[in-house]
Amino acid sequence: MNNVWHPFTIIKDAPEPLKVKSGKGAYLTLEDGREVLDCISSWWVNMHGHSHPDIAKAIYEQAKTLEHVIFAGFTHDPAEQLAELITQELPKNLNKVFFSDNGSTAVEVGMKIAYQYWKNIGQERKTFICFEGAYHGDTLGAMSAGERSIFTDVFKDWMFDMEVIPYPETWIGDENRANKEDAVIEELESLLTKYPEKYAGILMEPLVQGAGGMRMCSEEFLQKVHWSNRQFDTLLLFDEVMTGFGRTGDYFACKRAQVQPDIICLSKGITGGFMPLSVTVSSDEIYESFNSSDPIKTFWHGHSYTGNPLGCAAGIASWKLLRENAPVFKGMEAIHTKHLEKLADHPRLEKFRVKGTIAAMDIINEEEGGYLNSVAARIKKECVDHGLLLRPLGNVLYLMPPYCVTEAELDMIYGKIGELV
Ligand SMILES: *Cc1c(COP(=O)(O)O)cnc(C)c1O
Repeated sequence: MNNVWHPFTIIKDAPEPLKVKSGKGAYLTLEDGREVLDCISSWWVNMHGHSHPDIAKAIYEQAKTLEHVIFAGFTHDPAEQLAELITQELPKNLNKVFFSDNGSTAVEVGMKIAYQYWKNIGQERKTFICFEGAYHGDTLGAMSAGERSIFTDVFKDWMFDMEVIPYPETWIGDENRANKEDAVIEELESLLTKYPEKYAGILMEPLVQGAGGMRMCSEEFLQKVHWSNRQFDTLLLFDEVMTGFGRTGDYFACKRAQVQPDIICLSKGITGGFMPLSVTVSSDEIYESFNSSDPIKTFWHGHSYTGNPLGCAAGIASWKLLRENAPVFKGMEAIHTKHLEKLADHPRLEKFRVKGTIAAMDIINEEEGGYLNSVAARIKKECVDHGLLLRPLGNVLYLMPPYCVTEAELDMIYGKIGELV
């Protein structure tokens, strides 16, 4: 009997899960001996390859010293060091690091902090402005801020109301980009004008919407959103759970776009895929609104594993590798672009797009797009049979390889994609 219940899996119809024996660098070895190249960094977390010895060693050393300690009333070097390293590369206003242990919770914490910030300064602002196609996680608050779909339908009576505006999705050669962006900004500003004290903040995945289908927007669009946010004095929350740690070709998407959010949420790549960890980083201004002896202004939130030293040690080791690999994540966009250009005439592919280490395209088929498009399951199976781990989001095929992938391997991956599709 098998006692495991798998996530995002239609129990009755799903094929048997593949059993993985080990991982090394960009490759996974299955129990039956097959090797597959992990083209998606195993749910976007694995930055430097599987079982990297530096991170493994850091965790081992930390485990021998201090595996965990209550984080209220106590602190430790790994948490302080990791917080310092991350904030060094964030916009100057973001300095206060709140630890938790997964992306959904990092977003949930960000929303709670934003909501309470307004209370702490004497205002009542309940609603967030969110984007069509967004994904912020599976806890109730984060889920409420995401696209309503088959994933959320069962729970709709439990979810909070949000204000949803369109997302100006764009791709290489899209001539309509500026018009789409202007229309969204107009809608955003008309909401902020009409209800100046209603919105606690604007919450978005900057540059790339991940689970919604690797939908990309421009740096200019983020700058316009930032400008509206400043003008109308609300908060800007960036969910960089996926885009953080080099994914978009700079340390963070906000850096690439030169935009200062008020709150940023980070997880996936933070430990290179070794330990569950996340952080929510707030601006000094927000933090100051909590800096009071009044218990009602305190942030009453925390988790048993908050600031776990093993996670932080993995985070520090992963950060060092990230610094060493900066030329790789900064240079991968050019390599992706070269290959996407070669696929441009493929009769089954369209809407090519790239940001840093993430490349994506739509597969043209007769079914409607969306997560349940059956092309996903077929491609996934074909790819594993050909030694590639690819997991299309519906009809969206994307690559998000670990930074240890070689140019030769990328050549091979793109070659196979062209054939298999
Ligand atoms: C994956 C993801 C989340 C949720 O993170 P979990 O660790 O899976 O809870 C939130 N936001 C974005 C943008 C994500 O990609």
